[in-house]
Amino acid sequence: MTENIEKKTPAAKPEKLVAVKGMNDILPPESARWEWLEGKVRSLMERYAYRNIRTPIVEPTALFVRGLGEVTDIVEKEMYSFEDKLNGEHLTLRPEATAGVVRAVVEHALLYDGGKRLYYMGPMFRHERPQRGRYRQFHQIGAEALGFAGPEVDAELILLAHALWQELGLRDVRLELNSLGQPEERKAHRSALIAHFEQHLEQLDEDARRRLHSNPLRILDTKNPAMQPIVEAAPRLLDFLGAASRAHFERVTAILDASGVAWRINPRLVRGMDYYNLTVFEFITDQLGAQGTICGGGRYDYLIEQIGGKPAPAVGWALGVERVLELVKEQGEAPPAPVPDAYAIVPDAAALPTVMATLQGLRALGVRVQMHAAPSADAGMGSMKSQFKKADTSGARFALVFGADELARGALTCKALRDGSGAQTEHALADLPALAATLQSQR
Ligand code: ATP
Ligand code: MG
Repeated sequence: MTENIEKKTPAAKPEKLVAVKGMNDILPPESARWEWLEGKVRSLMERYAYRNIRTPIVEPTALFVRGLGEVTDIVEKEMYSFEDKLNGEHLTLRPEATAGVVRAVVEHALLYDGGKRLYYMGPMFRHERPQRGRYRQFHQIGAEALGFAGPEVDAELILLAHALWQELGLRDVRLELNSLGQPEERKAHRSALIAHFEQHLEQLDEDARRRLHSNPLRILDTKNPAMQPIVEAAPRLLDFLGAASRAHFERVTAILDASGVAWRINPRLVRGMDYYNLTVFEFITDQLGAQGTICGGGRYDYLIEQIGGKPAPAVGWALGVERVLELVKEQGEAPPAPVPDAYAIVPDAAALPTVMATLQGLRALGVRVQMHAAPSADAGMGSMKSQFKKADTSGARFALVFGADELARGALTCKALRDGSGAQTEHALADLPALAATLQSQR
């Protein structure tokens, strides 16, 4: 039966499948740059005593609606939300990670014995118009300090990010600060803001008109150039702050000043999510075009309660990995390309069991070895010439030649590929540590 069917309908060439628009593959050698950045972040987080947290990529939709605020770009139009076909649950691919971290902290009562410092790395999803520095699947690295109320933690997080730019060799990243005060202080500002925008209704775009009464603060965050003048002239939140909020802000900036971190006030900085209060900040560069914000964050003292936890203060930031790496490419230190120490050349497949056992031993001693693998099932290992060519393109500093004659003597030949000498030395298989030391030299 099946045979007949196959004969009647010759297999059509399967349609080529490509990645979803705005979602990118990260391929070698580019992925090495990602690993390099992640390594720098891990080492830095350790120095500041931040611990890694990993939360699910899918969360209940309600978490983001409640956490981020209904009248935000993300919740209004950027979320990948769907109904689980099997049980009807409303789920969303996380557009950011703070809400999930807070959910986890509350769910597992992590604050029962005091504050926690956490960091995460991973993919986020937002249905935006893809362009340079703006993707639908992108990656964030974030740090959160939960359960601490003082300005020293705001400053610590800013200093941590600043240290990361230095580690990455980035220049010309400026720090912009603002204070959103407390909800009470925002009320008076809100009325003044609405009055100001109502006087210029004709200059407001559709989004702004819609938000005028639901979330006027968000209008300050507009990316519409036509609205810049009226936004520029809007009442400044900083002018509405009481003594306590002003003192908090000044204590943050005093710490930054003492550490030599330059900053400037941006009165229009409000950030995209509803959950912020007091300190908000962004790190911005002019070198990435319109997508110049590489990192943003602030204090969110009311989010934990909003998500159902016992009220506790918190502050954090998130950086965009794609944007930071783009900037690294533009001006930063280039990460060293990973190259093997040695490339194993195998003239005869009969030697493979000995070869593999030897390489296993070398790798256990820390040597990076790339093994020559047969290009096709029946052509043997390939000619010596083609194997040496592969060794060359691998970037390895040494070739390990497992010739029959040497193997018969319990040895192999080690040939220098990069120092111009082409020096060949014979090494006894019985003394792998000595060979390993040679191979790891000149790294
Ligand atoms: P923007 O104003 O550029 O839309 P945002 O305020 O929405 O940014 P956050 O939600 O604060 O951004 O996220 C923190 C960081 O994550 C941003 O500063 C940026 O570097 C990065 N980021 C945000 N959205 C994207 C995206 N769609 N693609 C790539 N990176 C992004
Ligand atoms: Mg955005």
